[in-house]
Amino acid sequence: MNWTEETLRSTLAQPDFTSVYEQADVLRRERKGEEIQIRALLEFSNYCKRQCRYCGLNAKNARLTRFRLEPAEIVETALAAAETGYHTIVLQSGEDGWFTPEIIGEIVQAIKPSGMAVTLSCGEHPEEVYRYWKECGADRYLLKHETADPDLYRQLHPDAWLKDRVSCQKNLKRLGYETGGGFMVGLPGQTLDTLAQDLLLLREVGCDMAGIGPFLPNPDTSLGSYPHGSAEMTRRAVALARLLLPDANLPATTALGVLEPEAKRSVFSCGANVVMQKVTPNRVKRFYEIYPSELKDSDISSGRTQIEEEIRRLGRVPV
Ligand code: SAM
Repeated sequence: MNWTEETLRSTLAQPDFTSVYEQADVLRRERKGEEIQIRALLEFSNYCKRQCRYCGLNAKNARLTRFRLEPAEIVETALAAAETGYHTIVLQSGEDGWFTPEIIGEIVQAIKPSGMAVTLSCGEHPEEVYRYWKECGADRYLLKHETADPDLYRQLHPDAWLKDRVSCQKNLKRLGYETGGGFMVGLPGQTLDTLAQDLLLLREVGCDMAGIGPFLPNPDTSLGSYPHGSAEMTRRAVALARLLLPDANLPATTALGVLEPEAKRSVFSCGANVVMQKVTPNRVKRFYEIYPSELKDSDISSGRTQIEEEIRRLGRVPV
C-alpha cells in the first residue's frame, strides 16, 4: 500500500477495521515475534517550565504538588530495577532547570555500569546537550511530536513551535540515539487529516519507537472540559503505525490503559509490542499527574511480576 495522507485518512475512517488489525498483527509477529518488552519508567521530577495546555505538569498549574527526586535516589531506583530484571530504564521529567545537563549526565553515567539501556525523556534541549548525554551513555530519547498540525501545535503550546520539536527529533536521530516519537489521539481541534499527518511524520522522522495514546482531559488545565480521545481511534493509529514502520517498537501506552484497560490489552493484537511499567517511588508517583489516573502502590519487584503475568495471560512472552 502506498500510504499517503489521503489513503491514511480514508483508512482511519473506514467502518470495519478488522482486516487492518489483522495485517498489523501479522507484521508485528513477523518482525517482533511474540515477545512484549517491559521497560521501567522512572518519573523523577514534575517541575516544568513549559505551558502545554493539555498537560497537568504545565508551569501554570498551581494545584499540582511538585516533587523532584535526588540524583542518588534516581540512580538507586534504576539499579534496583536492573536487579529485578529490567534491561531498559526510561528517565522522564518535565523540563526542570534544576537538573542541569551535567547532573543528568552524571545520573546516566552512574546507571550505565548496570548494563541497562538508558532512555531519557526530558523535553527539548540544544543539540550540544543531547550530544553530551549521548557521550555520557544515553542510548535512547523519547520526545513525541504531540500533533503534526503546526497551527494546532501552536494553540496547544503557547510557548513553543512544532518546527523546533521536529528539529530536536532530527538532531537526536543524527546523533545516533534510538528515537521515540509519538502523538496524542483526540486532541481538541484534531481531525482525521491531522492523524494521517501524525502517522506520516513518524515515518519522516524515522522513529524507532512511537508512543500513541489518547488525549485525557486534566481538570486542572484549560482543556479540562474537553472529551477524551477515543480508544478505538488510538488502536487504529497504532495498527497503521505498525504498517508504516514495520520494525518500530510500539508501546501500549499508559494513557490507553487509564482510559480503557481492555483496550490496552487488545492493542497488543493490533501491532503493539512494548509496555512501560512505573518504578517511580510510591510516595511521589501520584504527583506525576499528567492526567488523572488511579495508581496503586506497588514495589518494583511485585509490579514486574504482575505485568509479566498479565503478558502471559495474553499468550505472549514477557521480556
Ligand atoms: N517533558 C517531556 C516531554 O516534553 O517530552 C516528557 C514529559 S511529558 C509529561 C510526557 C508525555 O505526556 C507527552 O509527550 C504527552 O504526549 C503526554 N501527555 C501530557 N498530557 C497529556 C494528556 N492530558 N493526555 C494524554 N497524554 C498527555
